[in-house]
Amino acid sequence: MANTKYIFVTGGVSSSLGKGIISASLAKLLKARGYSTTIQKLDPYINVDPGTLNPYEHGECYVTEDGAETDLDLGHYERFLNTNTSQENNVTTGRIYQTVINKERRGDYLGETVQVIPHITDEIKRSVRLLGQSGKYDFVITEIGGTVGDIESLPYIEAVRQIRWEMGKDCAVVHLTLVPYLAAAGELKTKPTQHSVKTMLEQGVQPDVIVCRTEHHLPGSLRKKIALFCNVSPSSVIESIDAKSIYDVPLLMREEGLDIEVLNKTEMPRRSDPDLKSWEKFLFKLKNPTEKVTIGLVGKYIELQDAYKSINESFVHAGAMNQCKVDVKLIHSEDVNQKTKNQKLKDIDGILVAPGFGGRGIDGKIVAAQYARENKIPFLGICLGMQCAVIEFARNVLGYTDAHSTEMEPKTKYPVIDIMEEQKDIDNKGGTMRLGAYPCRLQKGNKVYDIYKKTDIFERHRHRFEFNNKYIEEFRKAGMMPVGINPKDNLVEIVEIFDHPWFVGVQFHPEYKSTVAEPHPLFVGFVKAVLENKK
Ligand code: GLN
Repeated sequence: MANTKYIFVTGGVSSSLGKGIISASLAKLLKARGYSTTIQKLDPYINVDPGTLNPYEHGECYVTEDGAETDLDLGHYERFLNTNTSQENNVTTGRIYQTVINKERRGDYLGETVQVIPHITDEIKRSVRLLGQSGKYDFVITEIGGTVGDIESLPYIEAVRQIRWEMGKDCAVVHLTLVPYLAAAGELKTKPTQHSVKTMLEQGVQPDVIVCRTEHHLPGSLRKKIALFCNVSPSSVIESIDAKSIYDVPLLMREEGLDIEVLNKTEMPRRSDPDLKSWEKFLFKLKNPTEKVTIGLVGKYIELQDAYKSINESFVHAGAMNQCKVDVKLIHSEDVNQKTKNQKLKDIDGILVAPGFGGRGIDGKIVAAQYARENKIPFLGICLGMQCAVIEFARNVLGYTDAHSTEMEPKTKYPVIDIMEEQKDIDNKGGTMRLGAYPCRLQKGNKVYDIYKKTDIFERHRHRFEFNNKYIEEFRKAGMMPVGINPKDNLVEIVEIFDHPWFVGVQFHPEYKSTVAEPHPLFVGFVKAVLENKK
């Protein structure tokens, strides 16, 4: 096998240009040519991981199979590539510094002054190479968070400069910039791109490929101009035009030859043309729905579309699978109460109550679960959403009117949701939840089993509280069934109400495991149930 090739993806001019999607699309194309590829994200903030970040700050926190709390771009990587990522695929400045400081305290650098260069940059380089050294990958694509020119990105760009120098043709840099359209002038402007490349050059890095995000097609003359000012050949100026769906981007990048440019720069053979047949099939179904449903997503972060990214994408996958357009209607949980519920929840065909932490908006989520149960509307509760369904059932069916979770009401008389035993003595907030994949055993003879069609499953978790097994018999007798149990510690992971068209609560997060190639069965089943119920 040839040396592992390291591809860096940097961003200029503005944030939110879609570096994650470009990285994932490039990886998809290389993989479709038969190259084993992984993607990594380096984030310049000082949090050790995004687990402690408010979704308003940084969107959803994505959880990997091995229990890493990571940037939401890792979700795109998994959804595009259909392979698992891990802790190694997301590194932050906080983690880099933590490692270096721990080494310093251990005495690893005894006698040396510990500095940004070389110690921090060495640690960045080590994190990048770690994936390559596993011997599993032909390509390691490393996306550098932030925008070139930011103070906090400097050590990363410096690390790229060094790796570049050390590796030569085994390394290439793809720079994503914006080519804005000035309506008043009726022109696309290249100056911001020129400036961001200049900023990179000041830091010692010459990009090999320039990907230009744009609202209008780039004429050849403009590509030539960018090439001339930025020291690349016109073929290395790639247009990334706004797309209807993020899933169009791999095809657009194939047309533009992004993968071919990268193969040329790293002196790798083209092998076969990328095989994207199943991807195209997915896109066809996505774009040609024969049905339509509206699903209400009840959550407290609805102002920010990135807060429920994986849930939204799971609906895209499940919708395509059912050839059904899923309109996700965002409903603010703080707006839902007994008075407003009929108005807020009208005209929706299914209800999903979102995960979350803390008491804000909790009452609205409980009301939404009650509304779904009583009105026989298909319901999926995820993590806190499942806990709300359990609380609601305890209050309104079992008659424990003040039942609650001890997260919101530590002194509740009926703690139907309670803190897990192993969580009781934990004080630190970072990385201490029940995280990552755990086994769950399904009982036969219910809708959830019929969906998975197997007894043993693994799903990803991120929580501290759990169904309180003290009440399990009462729930069972009253019709809320524990249909999925952790075989090791007996924790209830799935509840289902049988006497209902489709009412499922899951303690785990199915949305983290839905990909284009393998839409999550629960989402597929939920959309199918919503569709059938609507008819
Ligand atoms: N706050 C709840 C818990 O910690 C649910 C967490 C979640 O929805 N991810 O158990």
